[in-house]
Amino acid sequence: MKFITRVIIVIFVCMLATSGEALVYRWNTKKSEHFVLYYQNAPIEYTDDILDKAEGYYDSITKELGFTRFEGFWTWDKRTKIYLYDNRKDYMEGTNGSGWSAAHVDVINRDVYAYINMDNFLDIILPHELGHIIFREFIGFKRKLPLWLDEGLVSFLEKRQKVDRLLVAKAIVKTSYFETLNDLGAVKSGFQIMPDIFYAEAASVIEFLVASYGRDKFTRFCQELRDLREDRDWFAAFQETYNFEDLDDMNKKWVEFLKK
Ligand SMILES: [Zn+2]
Repeated sequence: MKFITRVIIVIFVCMLATSGEALVYRWNTKKSEHFVLYYQNAPIEYTDDILDKAEGYYDSITKELGFTRFEGFWTWDKRTKIYLYDNRKDYMEGTNGSGWSAAHVDVINRDVYAYINMDNFLDIILPHELGHIIFREFIGFKRKLPLWLDEGLVSFLEKRQKVDRLLVAKAIVKTSYFETLNDLGAVKSGFQIMPDIFYAEAASVIEFLVASYGRDKFTRFCQELRDLREDRDWFAAFQETYNFEDLDDMNKKWVEFLKK
């Protein structure tokens, strides 16, 4: 099989696990419009900075996806909770060691766990995970989607890597390393083959949709996904919005976009 011949397995950075342990700590709290920060002894400038950045990401992501038009899709009682430990040791204990990789996040319950000065937390991990939380809050958590769609959307939102990722996808499409939409659909959470290629290609699918058909149409696609009857396949939302005949047809148009 195409995938098995190029196996580089990495543990997926998004850990979807729950932990009730965090609450045994004595937390101070600070609230903003869409977030509650639980912290121990973090300095005030640091806690303010986290909430400012989180609100900034919330604004830019919801605007970019056109979700700001949907009044009340996110209300104050659905605030994302950010648990900020003082140090890595407390964090590892508090998350039962499950935060050993990049971050510990529970998308369904909107819980994010981190510690003071955690590498990449504010600039990369937080916006990435908020992308997942906001997208799923809108379309629903139960809808089964291929991993490339969830990760592609969030990667597309990551501005600082956007240009590089598109260049990678445009280069890869001319090689035998290129994965078709069908190939990408076989990639499951937890195991990824060549993650750089996976993220670059997945993000470029969303780039293709937005660049070729417009942002409004992409928002409509998200609505179609949200409103799709439970027993219908996710691809129906692409067909309803973009009139693709099937996955091969969509693949063909995406490849043409990459080769342009
Ligand atoms: Zn992710």
